[in-house]
Amino acid sequence: MLLFLFFGSRNVRRTLEEGEFHCPRCRAVRRYELVHAQPHGHVYFIPLFKLGQGQEYVRCQSCRTRFHPNVLRGDTDAAAAHASLASACAAALCSVVLADGNASEAEVSAVARELSAIGGARVDAEDVRPLLRQPGAGEVGQAESMLARVARSLRAEEREEIARAMLRASAADGDPSPAAAAVVRRLASVLEITPTHLRGIVAELAG
Ligand SMILES: [Zn+2]
Repeated sequence: MLLFLFFGSRNVRRTLEEGEFHCPRCRAVRRYELVHAQPHGHVYFIPLFKLGQGQEYVRCQSCRTRFHPNVLRGDTDAAAAHASLASACAAALCSVVLADGNASEAEVSAVARELSAIGGARVDAEDVRPLLRQPGAGEVGQAESMLARVARSLRAEEREEIARAMLRASAADGDPSPAAAAVVRRLASVLEITPTHLRGIVAELAG
């Protein structure tokens, strides 16, 4: 008797998880699928036994590109880093404008403008007012430790940009008060910006 078996291998795919992620190719938030693919030996297309190690990958549901599952973790880390940077900058700017008591409307708008530029998402004056009323708002020590935590991972240009934002906010309604200027100097030093460097940035902003 002649026995002819049709043998081959194929992947058996299982979706482990679905959700939204930031697709590096689409450069946008997309649906993804975390897939486990396990090669199986098959006989007459009936998968019978596992062949080797299975592998997992993430597939963007829009562009269908496959990524290493790390893409999901990296995304969470990046989002967390972005959130701590945004809240550190918010705390810093609040301390600057609250240094001489209450924040004026011009200062509230300035903080909103600077936070929009730093975070890359629109922040309105209405979003800033509750921040200024929060318990602990304006406490320089708190802003200082929040900035210190994010400063390490920032590039020199990014640290300068935050210093510029603080300087612009401090000058939102005229010349900064001595109290506001002192807060800017103190927070700038956490960003490793010396008083001399800071004076250079002031001159550049004025020019
Ligand atoms: Zn995509």
